[in-house]
Amino acid sequence: MRAALLYGPGDLRVEEVDEPSGEVLVTVEAATACATDVKCLRYGHLILGPYPCRFGHETVGVRADTGARVLVGDSVPCGACRQCAAGRTQLCRRMTWVLGGFAERIAAPAAALHPVPDGLEAAGAAMAEPLAAAVHAVERAGAVAHTAARAAVLGGGTMGLMLARLLHLRGCAVTLADRHPERRAQATMLGAHAVETLDEAEYELVMEAVGRPEAWNAAIAAAAPGATVVLVGGCPSGSDVTLPAGPLHYAELDIRGAFHHTPAEVDHALSLLATGDVDWRGLAGPTIGLDALHDALVRPTTGEARKLVVDPRR
Ligand SMILES: [Zn+2]
Ligand SMILES: [Zn+2]
Repeated sequence: MRAALLYGPGDLRVEEVDEPSGEVLVTVEAATACATDVKCLRYGHLILGPYPCRFGHETVGVRADTGARVLVGDSVPCGACRQCAAGRTQLCRRMTWVLGGFAERIAAPAAALHPVPDGLEAAGAAMAEPLAAAVHAVERAGAVAHTAARAAVLGGGTMGLMLARLLHLRGCAVTLADRHPERRAQATMLGAHAVETLDEAEYELVMEAVGRPEAWNAAIAAAAPGATVVLVGGCPSGSDVTLPAGPLHYAELDIRGAFHHTPAEVDHALSLLATGDVDWRGLAGPTIGLDALHDALVRPTTGEARKLVVDPRR
């Protein structure tokens, strides 16, 4: 079968490889790509195995044994460590990562598989992986995400757009900030008010979805006294962020990280996509085959925020 393999930073090759071995074999129908895949290609990533390795972690396909359509979850928590015992499985320190969606077939532990609701297309179902991370981030915001009269999202990439939609569904008045007019137009379609930059000290909830130190600071600057700030975007590894002491103390800002998701949040995301509460077509980009993957991942992103869809059967 054909698979995309990483041989080192920047070195992606599509090759004929042996069938993968594992508990359940899944024939891939669609694998969507995100900024993590760009990082994997350009720099490598701590979740990758030793080179050469497969990647792609937003994967939907058909089980070879039962014929059922499944989302191949990208991680299986151990269930036994302190974090798992406390119900925070996204923080499992012995996580089994399941990568390799950019291939004709992927092998996965049965525990990684989630049934795809009837009628939901493969490309839409694959977006349940990033949407689950958005669901988790909104959970991390706590009660303010239900009551906030004014919530803000910083960054209009696909993650920021998903966050804005989820907050809108919860009844928040959402303002999304992005410098690209095309992304502001997308945010407006999802029910958000869109601006170029956020007002300072204004919002009861600020969700950061950029992943750069200056954006973390801009999110804190936009927070009203007593606000909650959720940092969703991961800064480049090794980043140090300097935070202003004043508002953290005198304005009692509540600053929280949000990472990954739980298996239950993946199922919730699948149902949001199946009902149309989150319109995946508005976030879907072009569908490409494996041979076009390298160039598509390194191409600079401009204009609308849309996720690349890889169909390895092409
Ligand atoms: Zn992703
Ligand atoms: Zn664990």
